[in-house]
Amino acid sequence: MILVTPRCPECGEPAEGSVDTVPGVALFTEAREDGHVEYSGTTEVCWDGQTSDWRTEHGMLVQCAAAHEWYTRVVDVVSTSTGKWIVTLDNEPVDGEEYDDRKDADAASVRQAKKMREEA
Ligand SMILES: [Zn+2]
Repeated sequence: MILVTPRCPECGEPAEGSVDTVPGVALFTEAREDGHVEYSGTTEVCWDGQTSDWRTEHGMLVQCAAAHEWYTRVVDVVSTSTGKWIVTLDNEPVDGEEYDDRKDADAASVRQAKKMREEA
């Protein structure tokens, strides 16, 4: 995965990670017969439900060490059902070209990211 905008536009620090959403269940204390409940203060976190905050228009939401957030387009390579590799942008195929090995696809994804940085 290659970030098209890898550094914070505000302070210049690199992205330290993607801003993700993790679902959880905020537990109640024991429910009374009349349905009255109180929060217990404990949340059970469902790590299997963790998702990055993708937005098709802007790419992925990332954050620097100073907690500034920005969107970056993401270039990646994925294998296809034919065993070949394709370059994707924000999880969508870039140009439909297929590559016989991952190395070629990685090189193509680097070229794509550089091109997008130059155009920005
Ligand atoms: Zn920053």
